[in-house]
Amino acid sequence: MISFMNPKFGGKLTKLPFSENAMKRYFTVLMMIGLLISCKEDDSFSGNDTNFGGILNKRGIGESAFELLSNDEYKHLEIELLYVEGFSPTQSALDQVKLFLASRLNKSKGISFKFSAVATPNLSHYSIQDLVEIEGDHRSVYSRSDTLGAYLFFADAGFSENDDDSKVLGVAYRNTSMAIFEKTIRDLSGGLNQPQTSTLETVVIKHEFCHNLGLVNAGSAMQVFHQDEVNGRHCDNKNCLMHFSVETGNVLTNTLGGDAPELDENCINDLRANGGK
Ligand SMILES: [Zn+2]
Ligand SMILES: [Zn+2]
Repeated sequence: MISFMNPKFGGKLTKLPFSENAMKRYFTVLMMIGLLISCKEDDSFSGNDTNFGGILNKRGIGESAFELLSNDEYKHLEIELLYVEGFSPTQSALDQVKLFLASRLNKSKGISFKFSAVATPNLSHYSIQDLVEIEGDHRSVYSRSDTLGAYLFFADAGFSENDDDSKVLGVAYRNTSMAIFEKTIRDLSGGLNQPQTSTLETVVIKHEFCHNLGLVNAGSAMQVFHQDEVNGRHCDNKNCLMHFSVETGNVLTNTLGGDAPELDENCINDLRANGGK
């Protein structure tokens, strides 16, 4: 019985209150783990069956790169084309965009478009906030089941950050959301010494889509370094579709000769390494 007098036992006795605290903490930790697990379950559940409030489509640029490129979770890509009445893109551009996406994305159930029109909101220019509000009011295609929803808005006015030297032709602003400044594209195409409208539309739509495919260094890891860091998430090859000049009117000189820029090998390799073709 001498063992009861053992300092260890005494230690245990004196530590009893501590043990109760530890017990409480243990329960707290257990509850926290429970919360974490339920959050995670909610996420995966909503990813497969219910996309509550379109939350899966309200993430950052490039965050769905793997989902867009691979056939793992989403086997079908549905792209909503919301255009201001009178500003729909040319069929020729959409055909080219579909061919391009089919050549890079693994989507065993295909890629489809859904068209919808909206009356002009009568804005002289569009800010990102305006684009977000229009999307909130009118977007109808969101990710659900094995369909990944994407969204392109075709605007009847320019971007709020345009200046005399550069006119923004398109912008990607969320993981599946992009806007194309169709009015600006038309102003800069189709005339004498200007590229064809469909060519410029094609190049700009592809460029913005590629930002959400994770280019450059923004969701699809670079296999070799080729980022033009001064100009953000762009490629350092001036002939590549992901060169920064494609986003602004400066691309005009590239498309005039009929040679619309395509992805270079470095960009294609990044997409392939992240589930694409
Ligand atoms: Zn860009
Ligand atoms: Zn490139």
